[in-house]
Amino acid sequence: MIKHISHIGIAVKDLDEGIAFYQKLGLTLEGTEEVPSQMVKVAFFPCGDTRIELLAPTSGDSPIAKFLEKKGEGIQHIAFAVDDLPEELLKAEDSGIRLIDKEPRPGAHHADIAFLHPKSSLGVLIEFCQEQEHKEEEEEEE
Ligand code: ZN
Repeated sequence: MIKHISHIGIAVKDLDEGIAFYQKLGLTLEGTEEVPSQMVKVAFFPCGDTRIELLAPTSGDSPIAKFLEKKGEGIQHIAFAVDDLPEELLKAEDSGIRLIDKEPRPGAHHADIAFLHPKSSLGVLIEFCQEQEHKEEEEEEE
């Protein structure tokens, strides 16, 4: 089941510049994190139930570097929070939606994520995101 919009992913060339802009708008930076699986550095700004997620590439091979090359800075994906990611992927596939990720993979914030293919979702890159709330509570790293 889709619960709410988890975050809106925005591609930026320079993370610090992006952070400065959203702080100017009045949002509060929650933190930054490097996500090696996607070769990106991410900055989060909570906004109600949702976050603005700024994504800057850490390598020329990053999907975000390719996005910036092709389309420039801007909204890159929309992520829906789901309660059961493997089940949502099966449902989407059964409905004939093409998947980029057939299996969940690790994303930022201890979340499991998977992308649907924009060619079968009207040009919008859609991410399903299952936040591991229990895991975060147990780890209590800080
Ligand atoms: Zn995302």
